[in-house]
Amino acid sequence: MTSAHVGAMSSSTCFPSLPRLLRPSFTKTKSSPKFSMSMSKDPVREWILSDGKATEITKISPVGGGCINLASRYDTDAGSFFVKTNRSIGPSMFEAEALGLGAMYETGTIRVPKPYKVGPLPTGGSFIIMEFIQFGASRGYQSDLGRKLAEMHKAGKSSKGFGFDVDNTIGSTPQVNTWSSDWVQFYGEHRLGYQLKLALDQYGDRTIYDKGQRLVKSMAPLFANVVIEPCLLHGDLWSGNISSDKNGEPVILDPACYYTF
Ligand code: ADP
Repeated sequence: MTSAHVGAMSSSTCFPSLPRLLRPSFTKTKSSPKFSMSMSKDPVREWILSDGKATEITKISPVGGGCINLASRYDTDAGSFFVKTNRSIGPSMFEAEALGLGAMYETGTIRVPKPYKVGPLPTGGSFIIMEFIQFGASRGYQSDLGRKLAEMHKAGKSSKGFGFDVDNTIGSTPQVNTWSSDWVQFYGEHRLGYQLKLALDQYGDRTIYDKGQRLVKSMAPLFANVVIEPCLLHGDLWSGNISSDKNGEPVILDPACYYTF
């Protein structure tokens, strides 16, 4: 996480207007033969009214606070669902988010929304449907958050080494997660090295790049006698991705997970 990333995200005023498909609607929508034609054009409704076990969607409301995607709450007779859509990016970004949420969820430690479904939108772009979590008024206790995160780090083991099954994005910056059995190599190449290359390409500052590369090359001896085991990391943990549920339990969201030291 870079300070630039935090700064860019923390303004939290980047909620654009909703496209027509997701505008707030107060009309009850029953699953019926008449509805099934429009259902096929809207895979979100289709999933909620089938695998989601709802028979009617009672309300769709916009959810603010995100910076990349459009977010909505779907209220139904089978409970509420949280849905994000992106009009231009295909399902790979949400597939990576769902895999990350799933990996953290599986640890049974800190609360994260359970991912349900990812898919393409017929008009282009993609969607993700997940458990809706009713947030509490505050961010909860930071000590509880720290304890729960530590539990997740301990529980989230990897037999494949350092990396993740898919690349993901931190904000909108690609994050390379190619598996490696050597953490120093993984961190040097895919984290420091990759960021240095991005900075060089964007700002052309070779001095910083060369200094950074010297650091990458001198990392190995610093960790020579350290036992390095992979553990699961949220990967994009900044204040906008931390909340608490209505019982005050910490909740973390919107990850860019990978296994690291
Ligand atoms: P983006 O991918 O655009 O950054 P986020 O994942 O941060 O979007 O979600 C946008 C906002 O929606 C968050 O700030 C949070 O307030 C809310 N939110 C995220 N996930 C859930 C959820 N599972 N249940 C309820 N609200 C959520």
